[in-house]
Amino acid sequence: MTHQSLAGEARSTSHGDSSWTGQQAELLRIGIGSLHETDPELAAMLDAEVSQQNSTLAMIASASIADPSVLAVGGAALSNVTAEGYPGARYHPGAQQFDRVENLAVERAKRLFGARYANVQAHSCSSANLAVLSALMRPGDTLLGLDLDSGGHLTHGSRASVSGRHYNAVSYGLDESGRIDFARLEELALEHRPRVLIAGASAYPRTVDFARFRAIADSVGAYLLADISHIAGLVAAGLHPSPIDVAHITTTSTYKQLGGPRGGLILSGVEYTTPGPDGRTPLSRLIQRAVFPQSQGTPSPASIAAKARAFAMAAEPAFRETARLILLNAQALAAELSALGYRVLTGGTDNHMVLIDTTGVGLTGVTAERALEECGILANRNRIPGDTKPPLVTSGLRLGTNILAQRAMGPVEMRECAQLLHTVLSGTRLQSDTDYLIDPALVATVREEVRWLCARHPLSIDTARVPVSLIGVGA
Ligand SMILES: *Cc1c(COP(=O)(O)O)cnc(C)c1O
Repeated sequence: MTHQSLAGEARSTSHGDSSWTGQQAELLRIGIGSLHETDPELAAMLDAEVSQQNSTLAMIASASIADPSVLAVGGAALSNVTAEGYPGARYHPGAQQFDRVENLAVERAKRLFGARYANVQAHSCSSANLAVLSALMRPGDTLLGLDLDSGGHLTHGSRASVSGRHYNAVSYGLDESGRIDFARLEELALEHRPRVLIAGASAYPRTVDFARFRAIADSVGAYLLADISHIAGLVAAGLHPSPIDVAHITTTSTYKQLGGPRGGLILSGVEYTTPGPDGRTPLSRLIQRAVFPQSQGTPSPASIAAKARAFAMAAEPAFRETARLILLNAQALAAELSALGYRVLTGGTDNHMVLIDTTGVGLTGVTAERALEECGILANRNRIPGDTKPPLVTSGLRLGTNILAQRAMGPVEMRECAQLLHTVLSGTRLQSDTDYLIDPALVATVREEVRWLCARHPLSIDTARVPVSLIGVGA
């Protein structure tokens, strides 16, 4: 059974359930009603967004669709609670419910990932990474992370981020095959003896060998930070090796593959009691303090509740099914695109991501991205190893299958998606690095095909999928 049909059943029961009369549900209804009456301009924008998400083929590797229940929880009145600090140790009164919610989120995060420590307050994975770095390093200390142009993240030591300004950032890259160059990484570690080594990427289609990273970290006495922002869903589903007990600290975004609200999460496994750089303070204590009060103020209670909801959903068998489909789809998409003549970086994929070189069809990454967007297909430009174009132009495209799998599309539909991509890319002519020409008739045809494909594979946020008999008055 697919994620979609399971989710559909769960939703059908909740529609007929009397718990719908709760005060929070009433409040959401009143809120939307009053928004439509008093601010139709904004309401229309929000409606247009739902409609766009339902009818576009999103292959953004860093995105997923949050379940309607996750979105609803994110809009809860719990958001009105202002309470700095942690459960049982707040700096404001009135946080009883929030304490229970935050404890629930922490317990669910620990259970989902098999972790012993979790901090659910980080407002994003970027904040989480910066908090972890500030907990383990002093300004000027050395950090070793994957180069931005090789698929690393800004917070892994890029000069454009404080991680590359406050710390002495050294970066490793990829070998000729496009995989992490471990030989060079070992040399760099020995030469620079970093305080923190970061494993993880924003654009890397292969399995990350966390054990190998840990061995290198140990050889120079570094802490290992695993950033699983992109692959957290696969890790939770047991479809990518888990770094929880291998790294000292693991961070992730909650909105990417986890289908949660926008936010971050910090985890630790067996190393949570390991002393920090002072030789005394356990890592978990250092991280708690690094998030609050060192780098954040009040937590976002409704977001934390929405994280709790998403963690519960990610622990269900249906999530695992979707994760399995994400992998199958990425492999199928890579194979189809290769067969159509595209150079797929590293020759394939082990995760949700497929990176292609757009120069084969004579396009830059940005023109490919824009031509596709015009046709209702979303995928973002991406630098490729040895790229000669600047970051706003690039020579590659990053595709992801998270949302395609959430639409319950399988390998059969990947053939259709690859064909659509190819129709657009091969029908686009480059005018300059950032300009292109495409036949309006082709755009119209592809748009229609995309709309039809999406309609056949609706998202959980597509209200048209709810059986008419179940839509009650006011629901
Ligand atoms: C997206 C990403 C982040 C940042 O996540 P935000 O929650 O958007 O701040 C951090 N690390 C990696 C590897 C990412 O891909």
